[in-house]
Amino acid sequence: MADKTQYDCDVTVIGAGIVGIACAYYIKQTSPHTSVLLLDSGQPMALTSAQSGENYRNWWPHPVMTAFTEHSISLMEDLAGHNNILNMTRRGYALATRKSDTDSLTEELLQGYARQDNEAVRIHDNTTSSYQPALLPGWQEAPDGVDILKNRALIKQYFPSFDPTVNAVVHIRRAGSISSQTMGQIMLERFKSAGGTRLTLNVSQMEEAGHFKICDKEHHVSIHCQQLVNAAGPFISQLATMLGSELPVYNTLQQKIAFEDTEAVVPRGMPFAIDLDPQTIDWTDEEKQLLAESDEYRWASEEMPGAIHCRPDGGDGGRWIKLGWAFNNLPQIPQRNPALMDSFPEIAVRGAARLNPALKTYYGKLPRNTHHYGGYYTMTDENWPLIGEMDIPGSYVVGAMSGFGTMAACAAGDICARLVLGRELPDYARSLALSRYQNTELMSTLHAQSQRGIL
Ligand SMILES: Cc1cc2nc3c(=O)[nH]c(=O)nc-3n(C[C@H](O)[C@H](O)[C@H](O)COP(=O)(O)OP(=O)(O)OC[C@H]3O[C@@H](n4cnc5c(N)ncnc54)[C@H](O)[C@@H]3O)c2cc1C
Repeated sequence: MADKTQYDCDVTVIGAGIVGIACAYYIKQTSPHTSVLLLDSGQPMALTSAQSGENYRNWWPHPVMTAFTEHSISLMEDLAGHNNILNMTRRGYALATRKSDTDSLTEELLQGYARQDNEAVRIHDNTTSSYQPALLPGWQEAPDGVDILKNRALIKQYFPSFDPTVNAVVHIRRAGSISSQTMGQIMLERFKSAGGTRLTLNVSQMEEAGHFKICDKEHHVSIHCQQLVNAAGPFISQLATMLGSELPVYNTLQQKIAFEDTEAVVPRGMPFAIDLDPQTIDWTDEEKQLLAESDEYRWASEEMPGAIHCRPDGGDGGRWIKLGWAFNNLPQIPQRNPALMDSFPEIAVRGAARLNPALKTYYGKLPRNTHHYGGYYTMTDENWPLIGEMDIPGSYVVGAMSGFGTMAACAAGDICARLVLGRELPDYARSLALSRYQNTELMSTLHAQSQRGIL
């Protein structure tokens, strides 16, 4: 049966998550006369983008990712504007460790920021130091660079909820939180006011014959366009396969919890706090024994990786906190409604209690309205995104945004617009394309890195 409805446009963007919306928005902003269709099988911002922890940072093991997120943060600041409509905060990320020798950490920081000098990193090893705490949530006045606190009394003064065994706190300053749903909504509204069109359509087939034909076979709708952008989140591989392309990506399910801190144990002014060190979860001996005997859960009784994180949510006057721990590294076939792990909330609160011991009050009794949620980190092995041409000229992928898609969406959208419209790219952007896999020197550097920036 012939298609009942046909649309024609210059560019079609598939996926109205934060990434696809940003692509459509920046294409239309840069070239108002280009006709752009933004497609999604469901509601905008409803799949992975609805699960984001809404954190951002410019802290990465490699300067390319630093440049990428720096670019994105600047674009978010432009969007937030003087009225801070994105509710952008900048209390930073506080990375805590029990190690007292921080030389290798400092070395990694300098490599990530591509700095040889030590000026980007300020060391504070006595109580009379000039360390500026993040007293206010706002971003306009916040300092840049990194502070390393190496004095226990100083750490106690500014991070009173942290466990006293912490020997160093690395405070990343250009980092904080953002309201990602508002960001998506604003870009979508501006896209539509600029003449962009959004359609609900499930892409089930794509062909190339001088132009692209994108079909929703069930509803007999087709679209003809000159260029297409695959921003289908966890389904980018599925979409690429329709055009005969393969993408080197996989999906891992990651989870978070948010709950009302009824006992007010986490200070409202605490930055996004990350426990860097691996740990064995604080189970009772009996619990540990039971876990060790279970084939399914033995892993939870063994050493867990670092990077459990916790932050206050909902502003200084709020009471909620968010906890996350991206320890799952098992690739999965993506589902629209993935099953979450029942034990995750208890694992997360026990893990987070090592850095913030007062959280122990919630052991076995998290509030009833605890929100447990999750989605996929769609990622490459090196945890860099894919932004660039796919095999067929005129087709692009913007995805594999792992746990950084909210913070990096604006830069990804801007790069996508430049690719589609043939404009100049930022220097770092070529390294994010599929062609990087031909650069053996870059790929061996990335594979040799001990950190991939997964949070
Ligand atoms: C638990 C968790 C916490 C996170 N925390 C953070 C954080 O703190 N900071 C941060 O920066 N990032 C974070 N992320 C990552 C971030 O949420 C994602 O990288 C980002 O949302 C990905 O956006 P997207 O637009 O690529 O994908 P999605 O939001 O999944 O959007 C893809 C869209 O494509 C549509 N689609 C798919 N297939 C088709 C088809 N065949 N036809 C039509 N439409 C289709 C889907 O319906 C969907 O709406 C987190 C992710 C998770 C899971």
